[in-house]
Order: sequence, then C-alpha cells, then structure tokens
Amino acid sequence: MGYSNEVIKAANNIIRERRLSAERAADLRREKIFEELPKADEFEKAIVDCGIKAGRAVVGGGDVKFELEKLKARSLALQSDLEKLLNTKGYTRRDMEPKYFCEKCNDTGYIEYENRTVMCDCLRRAMIETACAELNSHSKLSLCTFDDFSLDYYSREVEEGYPRSSYEQMCIILKYCKDYAEHFSLKSENIFMRGLTGLGKTHLSLSIANEVIKKGYGVVYISTPKLLSQLEKEQFSRYKPETSVMDTIEECDLLIIDDLGTEFSNQFSSQAVYNVFNARLLSGKPFIVNTNLSLKELEGLYTQRFISRISGEAKRLDFFGRDIRIMKSNL
Ligand SMILES: [Zn+2]
Repeated sequence: MGYSNEVIKAANNIIRERRLSAERAADLRREKIFEELPKADEFEKAIVDCGIKAGRAVVGGGDVKFELEKLKARSLALQSDLEKLLNTKGYTRRDMEPKYFCEKCNDTGYIEYENRTVMCDCLRRAMIETACAELNSHSKLSLCTFDDFSLDYYSREVEEGYPRSSYEQMCIILKYCKDYAEHFSLKSENIFMRGLTGLGKTHLSLSIANEVIKKGYGVVYISTPKLLSQLEKEQFSRYKPETSVMDTIEECDLLIIDDLGTEFSNQFSSQAVYNVFNARLLSGKPFIVNTNLSLKELEGLYTQRFISRISGEAKRLDFFGRDIRIMKSNL
C-alpha cells in the first residue's frame, strides 16, 4: 500500500515524539538518581572512560588483547558496583536508560534486517493509524463508550414471537461486544448488526471502535453514504491521492460500516459496496456492518448471493425494537 507524504510525515513524527519523550523521561530519572546517589555519576563516568581507553588501546597497538581484557574486567566490576549502589535506593541500571515504546527499533522506526535498513512494524502501524484517523476525522468516534451505554431503555417484556425480552437480548449483545473489543485481534470474527434505528447499533460499534483503537489497532468507522461519496469523489477526480480511501479500507485492522442500505443506490454504489466487502473478505481482516434494513430489503438493493455471503461470514446480532411490525419483518 502506498501512503501519501502527509501520512508518512505524520507517522514519522509520532515515532520521533515517542523517542524524545522516552529520552526526556530517562534524563529526568538520571538527574534524580545522581542527586540521590552522587557516586553513581562517578561510576558511570568511569565506565564510559573504560570504553574510551579500549578504543585507544586498539588504535595504539602493543599487547592489545591483554589491555582489552583488563579494561573489560574493570568495566564489569564498575557496572556491578554501580548496580549495587543503585539497588540501595530501589533503582536498577535499566532506570538510567530510555524505556522505548518499541524495543525492536528503539523508537527510530527502522531496523536492520538481512543487511538492509527496513521499516519497523511500529512505523508501519503508525502509518495505518494515521491513515485511518484521516478517514475518521468527521465521525463521532470519541462520543460513545461502553460506560455510557444504558440498558434501562430496553423492555423487559417478552413480545409475542420473540425468544426473550429486548432487555435480555441487549444484555447478551452488550456482553458479546465488550468481549469482542477486549479480545480483538486480526483474526476476530466479522459482525453483522441488524435492527431498527435508535436501538444502539451505532453506539455499540463506536464503543468497540474506541476500545480497539486504544489497543493500538487502525480502525476505520464510516457510514455507507460517506464511504460511497468518498470513493466516488476519488474515482471521478483527476487528482489521485497516494493514500486512497480504498487502500485504507483494505489495510485497516477493523473496518466498521454504519447504515448499510441508507445510501443512494445506483450502479456505482452497488459495485463499490461489493468491492469493499470483497476486499475485506479476501484480506481475512474483520469488519462490522450495521443495517436498519431486513435481509430481504438488503437483497433487493444488492443481490441475495452477496448478502448471504456477508451475513454468512459474520456473527449476526439482532437488535429487538418496540415496533412489532418492523421487528417481524426483520426476523
Ligand atoms: Zn519499532
């Protein structure tokens, strides 16, 4: 996947900020340690001095091996003394070093692999997150959490034709969604949420999105009309961005598509929706899709084969509403 210069720059900045903040924190810890244990500073200078002398010994010639071994022994003894000294105040030598977010690359974003400098996974992740954040910039992502989801609204009466009350059903769904968010991985299943408007589908998908983002995954949350207008704009624009919407849709760790079926339906939209789901099913990475429509209505908009493929590859969550007519048509 290609990324635009803006995405690459922003991702590199994230990594740089992590490195600087780890180093700043280490500097502060060292200052505090040296204040408490002034002798630690002396030990450290002596250890550095051993290194400098070892360098000189190699260049200087003479009995290099003997000199190096002597310096190495001295350095190890100093390191051990320093460690003991630090331990007296509950510190270790590790406290004097920066604690990097990514230990593979020490927050540089790059690693050596088979004699080549390659991008570290952390930088790749930062790019995915940045590209997703760009697509999410207009959504109400930060507004919904599991904590402000209330079950009070749901009826405890079992309506005729239903296996349980909408309250009991929502308890099951809420638990499922919380578990899903908590244990999310790239192998998580897809979710297909059905039910009337105002029953909490959007709220729960946004809550999942928030939790999964907190775990460091790249999540795209987008309504179907918005997704289609973005894809359409891109398709018919002369300017082709380096990070296309379709790339981000394919690449993100979790794709959440809200309000399937509310889009203006035409040949472009059906094909685009088909392409989006096809790409996700091929990549094997999870998606969550919400719809207010019944399966029959969706089949009318797309094809029966396509809808049964999406719903067949996903865990179905049925949100029961109060309106019995529409509830029945949803069954
Ligand atoms: Zn890294």
